[in-house]
Amino acid sequence: MEVIKISPRGYCYGVVDALQIARQAAKDATLPRPIHIIGQIIHNQHAINELTAIGVVTLDGPDRFTILEQVKEGTVIFTAHGVSPQVKQSARDRGLHCIDATCPDVTVTHDLVRRLVAEGYFVIYIGKKGHPEPEGVLGEIPGHGVLVETLEDVEGLTLTAEQEARVAISTQTTLSKWDTQRVVERIQERYPHAEVHIDICAATQKRQEAVASQARGADLTIVVGDPRSNNTNRLVQVSEELAGVPAKRIEDLSQLNLEWLKGKKRVAVTAGASTPSQLTREVIRYLEQYQAPE
Ligand code: SF4
Repeated sequence: MEVIKISPRGYCYGVVDALQIARQAAKDATLPRPIHIIGQIIHNQHAINELTAIGVVTLDGPDRFTILEQVKEGTVIFTAHGVSPQVKQSARDRGLHCIDATCPDVTVTHDLVRRLVAEGYFVIYIGKKGHPEPEGVLGEIPGHGVLVETLEDVEGLTLTAEQEARVAISTQTTLSKWDTQRVVERIQERYPHAEVHIDICAATQKRQEAVASQARGADLTIVVGDPRSNNTNRLVQVSEELAGVPAKRIEDLSQLNLEWLKGKKRVAVTAGASTPSQLTREVIRYLEQYQAPE
């Protein structure tokens, strides 16, 4: 099988840093125990299992407040997706030691929306409903922002005259830049004066652009990543919609369905920003030695 190893792919610096922070915490005997991560430090079960094995336990739930309620003592680590000031305060009120692993690119958005609101703007934030990153960003500006995900959400927006007067747009870091552009254009049709800030991070953009250009000509794209990882799912979409190549997402080699490879000669491989490199290497090695039946 000819394998196109799409580059760049896999871990971004925000994920590498967050994992490093969690591993360091496990080694630091001065930190109060137990150590919990509030939500999935990155959306990848393999990485979570690795941290559990060294005593850093992941707690998950519908939102950060609900998760925090499970913690009585010790240390909490906030994830790369960022958390709201209210969640940080709630952790401090509970007497917990806090470690913040928020990605610097997410912090930029937190700072931006706070500045926009201080300047009198109402923020329309484009992001995924139920994802922790919008929860953290909108928590910075309670009452001064709204989350939209789809064109239908934009249609349904009802802003007050005061909010409409000064509107700004901000976005989640891991969206598809092409989808985002469509939503931004629709917002601008309704609010032509809206100030636009596209906050998709460089790591996400580079991985998407690499798939759009390098997967072209492949028979199939395999995207290695967790089903909850937004940037992983966007890579599947980019392959199908921009490169015109069907794509399948797998968590690891065990999910590779050989039926997909029938009659295929060239397979492109990429991975989400939260996928351990070793999982992707295993898939690439397997495909390189695999000969698909005609
Ligand atoms: S995908 Fe972007 S924003 Fe998210 S952790 Fe990686 S570098 Fe940071």
